[in-house]
Amino acid sequence: MPELAVSDLHKSFGDVHAVNGLDLTLAEGEILALLGPSGCGKTTTLRLIAGFDRPDQGTIVLHGRDLLPLPPEKRKIGFVFQNYALFPHMTVAQNIAYGIRYAPRHTERVRELIVLVDLSGLERRYPRELSSGQCQRVALARALAPQPRLLLLDEPLSALDAKLRESLRREIRRIQQEVKLATLHVTHDQDEAMAISDRMAVMHAGRIEQIGTPSEIYSHPESAFVASFIGHANVIAGTITSVSEERLEMDASGTMLRAAASGRDFHPGEDVLLFCKEEKLRLADDGQKTVSARVIIAEYHGETVIVHLESRIGPLRLRMPAGMASNMSAGMQVSVCLPPEECDVFPQKTLS
Ligand code: ATP
Repeated sequence: MPELAVSDLHKSFGDVHAVNGLDLTLAEGEILALLGPSGCGKTTTLRLIAGFDRPDQGTIVLHGRDLLPLPPEKRKIGFVFQNYALFPHMTVAQNIAYGIRYAPRHTERVRELIVLVDLSGLERRYPRELSSGQCQRVALARALAPQPRLLLLDEPLSALDAKLRESLRREIRRIQQEVKLATLHVTHDQDEAMAISDRMAVMHAGRIEQIGTPSEIYSHPESAFVASFIGHANVIAGTITSVSEERLEMDASGTMLRAAASGRDFHPGEDVLLFCKEEKLRLADDGQKTVSARVIIAEYHGETVIVHLESRIGPLRLRMPAGMASNMSAGMQVSVCLPPEECDVFPQKTLS
């Protein structure tokens, strides 16, 4: 039995279907990242699960218990917001104790939590005397204090700088594994989602478009939306010219491109989009089907370089090790190859 089972969840605000038939399960101790563009319904989903809003339709069951009749405080859910929402007039210890202040032995529990989130020595400080990373640790400890069955994290790291975000996401993972708590982590940052989660769910227009391990989602996107949202893909529009059991051929502005067959049905004449991740595009070797292109700019990103190209099939980006890109300069002519086995093709009409 899953720890959390959400099915056929709907919530509209006027004409906006913020959540539109969402299904989701979460196993005990699992961390699932809910990832999607702004406005796709991530926060609304969390708010419905937490009980801050009522769904129009659907069920939410946590550890076998129907949550809908229960108010937020009875749902056994911990919530961490983007902006910490700490009480400014309370110390670290008082903030953490807030939800358990009438429970027996709460001082001992607060002490344990302070060690767990690595805030020893800061118990008597006020939020204004803490860094933003420390504030978020207090918020996490406060959410964990009543021993919830489920933890909801709504973009908890987005207000922090890049370095702190990385270290705190490792901390969240460590703490989550230590307390073995089912956790739903909302983010729009795909690196964060991949780094932190056991599985990730890509959300689009109020529902889950694909759910799987980070490597499944990255390597095998099942829709044009997921292929365009995850990874950094080149997107090339074209028309199918032939279909066989092993491969597809398409025409893109007069250039023939191939992709390995994926099991999806296509027919000649169908308008499609071909996706090829920027690190999969290669400078061509002899004998390969190639596309000629001109270098616009080579952008340095530490160990890798992204080469921006202009070609007949449209703009392309190629990511390569910095050591191999030293001779790439604006105006240079190159031939690139889109390896068929690294290309995903989807009907054009599905990207809406
Ligand atoms: P973001 O990443 O920007 O936070 P999100 O994926 O969390 O976005 P939601 O905040 O869930 O998206 O919003 C989904 C849609 O519902 C949006 O179009 C939003 O404007 C709308 N919406 C959310 N809450 C309300 C509300 N209380 N009243 C009216 N519309 C709302």
